[in-house]
Amino acid sequence: MVGRTPQDITADDGTVGSSGSDQRSVQMANIAAGKAVGELVRTTLGPRGLDKLLVDDDGMGIVTNNGASILREMVDHPIGDIIADLSVSHEDGVRDGTTTTAVLAGRLLGEAETLIERDIHPTTIARGYRAAAERAGEILDEHATVIEPSDTERLTSLAATSMSGKGTMKEDVVPSLVVEAVQRVRTDGDVDRDAIRIEKITGAPVDNSVMMDGVILDQERADSVTPYRVEDATIAVFDKDIEPRESGLELDVDVTTPSDVARIQENQRAEIVSIVDHLDDLGVDAVIGGENIAEELRERLAKRGMYVVRRVHDDEIAHLAKATGANVKGTVRELSADDLGYAEIVEETDLGGELQTRVQGCATETTATLVLYGSTRDVVDELHRAVKDAISVVSCAIDEPKIIPGGGAPETAIALRLHQYAKEFDSREQLAIEAYANALEVVPSTLAENAGVDPILGLVNLRAVQSNGDTLAGIDGETGEIIDPVEAGIIEPFSVKLRSITTAPQVAETILRIDDFLPMSFEIDEDKLPANGPAGGMGAP
Ligand code: ADP
Ligand code: MG
Repeated sequence: MVGRTPQDITADDGTVGSSGSDQRSVQMANIAAGKAVGELVRTTLGPRGLDKLLVDDDGMGIVTNNGASILREMVDHPIGDIIADLSVSHEDGVRDGTTTTAVLAGRLLGEAETLIERDIHPTTIARGYRAAAERAGEILDEHATVIEPSDTERLTSLAATSMSGKGTMKEDVVPSLVVEAVQRVRTDGDVDRDAIRIEKITGAPVDNSVMMDGVILDQERADSVTPYRVEDATIAVFDKDIEPRESGLELDVDVTTPSDVARIQENQRAEIVSIVDHLDDLGVDAVIGGENIAEELRERLAKRGMYVVRRVHDDEIAHLAKATGANVKGTVRELSADDLGYAEIVEETDLGGELQTRVQGCATETTATLVLYGSTRDVVDELHRAVKDAISVVSCAIDEPKIIPGGGAPETAIALRLHQYAKEFDSREQLAIEAYANALEVVPSTLAENAGVDPILGLVNLRAVQSNGDTLAGIDGETGEIIDPVEAGIIEPFSVKLRSITTAPQVAETILRIDDFLPMSFEIDEDKLPANGPAGGMGAP
């Protein structure tokens, strides 16, 4: 565990690149930083990867195995930022595969270092890496299997693989809950990930987690006189205060005499009665308010048997409306029969020691709620991150229903094939393609290493098995043994792996191309300024 953040990533000699140094040494310093970042996250790769304790400036800690979180929170270095920015996908927010990308990028930089020392130009290296990545994508495709987007078993395996090592075990219930939730909100191949809400509850084991066809509202029932539960519920949803108007009178009437006051009270009471009657006439069983609901009104609604909850959070109101098919209204007067929603049960419930409102059995199949349990805050937070990743992985696989084996199988197979492919190129690019192949093998060797097996031996054995024709063999990340990952249910979306193996060389190339960078703050040493302007800076010397 690493107990400090941010972590300084500097070259062995302590340099982080400088404006006066020559191009080569800047490049080497950047490479060293990139390698260090890769090594840092490498220890978390796979199901047996080590967790990291990240501590922010306020001393708050999170325990995580999530490469994306580590890159974001822990690494405070321009090169680390480049790796984080490029490794985490921006298009669809899929963070799975981030560790692999960063580790690969680090290894590609390490290989590049060796090649640069052999006087191969970074441009040639980048060209070779690009050729290798393109071919690697084709080979990966040959190892891919098309699945049905409705194949629950496969989707569950995808979710479980993406979550392994992150607060759950493969047998746990959570991956299947994730798939249930995604399938619930999916409409012809399109998954609206925002339609899945995640509730976190501490104090009970992970296995208590459930997928709900409803919504949890953060608030308990409004009053002690409010019924605990209504069934077969017609629901009215409001986002403004529900109160009789201030005076019940025209605004320009002066209130001067006791009889005025009495009249105002009378008007208010009449208005409350008309609000209650209107709701009752519409057959409303539950009134859900985003703001306040007047006390007298609440009591009268309770007497008519209606469930009332108020001050419900905005996004819960929106989610509830979607789930129940209700239209959110500002006043009771505007409410008509068309605006009402439906759920089988609306009730107060105790979740992890907090009273909340549970709305279950909702009318539409457009939303889902995952209720995640964990023994401690850390456990449930890590589970939450893993579930978000798994939701995106399952969505990706529905979007492009193609899977590949995990456990380092494709990386090993691609490496073996690329060594052949390299022979088609001239000697310098050939070396770069071979370097890319070597770098890919960091995945199987690290999975073996993190499972407690000698990484070189693990890799050599896997290569031998694959060379004998079993090109789908991989490493069991729990035991380090050689297995058939597909049979073991260790599978990943094709698109996620494709992104890792094509993005990593782009990250490496970006870093190799930086021939200087300006430290975050630097002072210009006047004495060293030549007559024609500052030395160094971008692009110099
Ligand atoms: P990333 O951020 O790249 O997703 P992970 O820590 O999730 O990093 O590790 C992903 C790698 O671990 C993939 O290569 C995946 O195939 C592999 N993996 C996950 N679970 C297992 C397992 N049970 N056995 C072997 N490999 C596994
Ligand atoms: Mg992962």
